[in-house]
Amino acid sequence: MHENKRVLVTGGAGFLGSHLCERLLEQGCDVLCVDNFYTGTKHNVQHLLNHPMFELMRHDVTFPLYVEVDEIYNLACPASPIHYQRDPVQTTKTSVHGAINMLGLAKRVNAKILQASTSEVYGDPAVHPQTEEYWGNVNPVGARSCYDEGKRCAETLFFDYHRQHNLQIKVARIFNTYGPRMHVNDGRVVSNFIVQALKGEDITIYGDGSQTRSFCYVDDLIDGLMRLMARGPEFTGPVNIGNTGEMTVRQLAETVIEIIGSSSKLIYKPLPEDDPLQRQPDISLAKKELDWCPSTNVQAGLRNTISYFESVLDRG
Ligand code: NAD
Ligand code: UDP
Ligand code: UDP
Repeated sequence: MHENKRVLVTGGAGFLGSHLCERLLEQGCDVLCVDNFYTGTKHNVQHLLNHPMFELMRHDVTFPLYVEVDEIYNLACPASPIHYQRDPVQTTKTSVHGAINMLGLAKRVNAKILQASTSEVYGDPAVHPQTEEYWGNVNPVGARSCYDEGKRCAETLFFDYHRQHNLQIKVARIFNTYGPRMHVNDGRVVSNFIVQALKGEDITIYGDGSQTRSFCYVDDLIDGLMRLMARGPEFTGPVNIGNTGEMTVRQLAETVIEIIGSSSKLIYKPLPEDDPLQRQPDISLAKKELDWCPSTNVQAGLRNTISYFESVLDRG
């Protein structure tokens, strides 16, 4: 018999994964963190290495993994456009082969398994805000397709393992999330703007900055994922997890400049290919089924994130 629930977190040394490992340990779980350190770092979980219930394993999820666990959070996948586009074939392999291996593992050990899916499955959405019923508007052959289609195929695999093998699955569609431990060179908008503003460099707005996103603070997001995992087998999702506070990219830049009191100027660069014009989750389902909604406002979340980046930049 195992006193502690054994939980596998793939991508556990990444931004979201490291926060998840921390919270699972706080709840008394026995945590196995698996990561190939493609975008994550040992630094993100260094403070957990001496914890008796924490284990870190270097492994690429595109290869089979034989371990004994009770629950699996499948987060392994680069999430930032610059990172997932660097080796797009590997990105699709990670999403698809990674999902097959983790589902095969879940099937063998009869574990509950949660997939970190994404709002990108909605592509450049024609429906606003996005509900889970919307099937999306995704380019299958563009620069973002390795990620978007990889994640869509992973969802398909999860639902087929559920129907075909009766697996207990949970699919979370995560919307833009930010917070401490985003990589300094991550390339995502929140980290870029904060680092640029702290260094007094120009803030790079892609396009005219009128495109929108809705930003969720990491603690809220992790709470949503854990509530989803805790739900009974009848609820599989997919369920949107994100913050409904929509803002333009230009508003985000202005907010970051104001909080930091930075002298940075806004400069405009070309909009990347297939960059979605708008994005905002409809979170009615998460409210109803998980009794979840985010509680951190963007000002408070950005302050915490800015403090983190200040300490990282100070360390050099
Ligand atoms: P991240 O890049 O910080 O973390 C991903 C982790 O996965 C990294 O530690 C990386 O090294 C690891 N990884 C990548 N390929 C791997 C492989 N083949 N085998 C083992 N490990 C591998 O990104 P994140 O923001 O923490 O995202 C975590 C998950 O959440 C991803 O699946 C991402 O698609 C999803 N997601 C994140 C957001 C967001 O806004 N942060 C939004 C939607 C979905
Ligand atoms: N797999 C794994 N760990 C396990 C069990 C399976 O990594 O504990 C991998 C295995 O390599 C296989 C994949 O998961 O390629 C899918 O497993 P499944 O049992 O569904 O299919 P099959 O083995 O019949 O291909
Ligand atoms: N963006 C920007 N400047 C940057 C980085 C990103 O204007 O330095 C824009 C990007 O074009 C997109 C939005 O901010 O419209 C969010 O980008 P991110 O890469 O964070 O996430 P995603 O596009 O996947 O939502």
